[in-house]
Amino acid sequence: MKKILIIHTGGTISMLENKETGAVNVTDEHPLTRLQDEYRKFANVDEYVVFDLPSPHITPKHMLTLADCISQSLSKYDGIVVTHGTDTLEETAYFLDLVIDSEKPIIITGAMRSSNEIGSDALYNLISSIRVASADQAKNKGVLVVMNDEIHTAANVTKTSTSNVATFQSTQYGPIGIVTKEMIIFHRIILKQEYYPVKDVHSNVFLLKAFAGMDENLIHALHMAKPDGLVIEAFGQGNLPGSIVDGLIKIINDNIPVILVSRCYQGTVQPTYAYQGGGRQLKELGVIFANGLTGPKARIKLLLALEKTKNIESLSKLFSEQ
Ligand code: ASP
Repeated sequence: MKKILIIHTGGTISMLENKETGAVNVTDEHPLTRLQDEYRKFANVDEYVVFDLPSPHITPKHMLTLADCISQSLSKYDGIVVTHGTDTLEETAYFLDLVIDSEKPIIITGAMRSSNEIGSDALYNLISSIRVASADQAKNKGVLVVMNDEIHTAANVTKTSTSNVATFQSTQYGPIGIVTKEMIIFHRIILKQEYYPVKDVHSNVFLLKAFAGMDENLIHALHMAKPDGLVIEAFGQGNLPGSIVDGLIKIINDNIPVILVSRCYQGTVQPTYAYQGGGRQLKELGVIFANGLTGPKARIKLLLALEKTKNIESLSKLFSEQ
């Protein structure tokens, strides 16, 4: 049997439902420990609780601590399974994917229903993740998200439903593999992996979603907060209201990188429209287009990229390589 380390960080998979009130919360003892006989059948497992946090409390500093914990353990194990709250799981997964360079399987999983809720997916997702982490085919694929019988890349996956157990989807490209009772099947290869070794995450990067009727005030307020970078989820192919362009120019003139993604969950941003606020104009002004990433993931990438360089041209190159 393979040697797998499970690192718990919290989230619903580490919580229990109070049967009287229905409230789901953290407990003193890790609830999955009671079920260890079930998952220890699949690998020689060690467990470590690095945090016990609901995932909305996770910050990039926590992600870095988790990455260090994984990097220090990798030589002793065949694979790593991280349990995590589902709300920010995709951000942590992508962060780990960018900062850890290892051929060993690193799997991140969670649950939509805690272990004592009817129809809980906690134990099932944990067992699936241990099986994937033990599979030789899972090597050299970066950080993978295993939930609900599917295997997703950290870069593509996103939480799509507030409560459905099939919440994690790779909306543009689909999962990279599936988990069946008997097999772990991969049906796509990874063409490119990026690596951003960082010692710290210092920067302050904001994420803004475009909306109809947005005016300059919001852009001015963000500018006054002196961010190190700004990610904007623009409309459609990468367009913004003409009313915010002057504010954006001031931000760009201050050498603050502005990264553009789409608020659509499929497709790419491209400089198509030439009207005021259209993608073509934004690109000419120096806005950096980031393809294939959601706003939260573009923000994670910018946080890490800023540890490498503050030069706008270099940042632009890093994002065009996506
Ligand atoms: N709110 C929870 C969390 O992210 C949701 C979950 O884990 O599914 O911690």
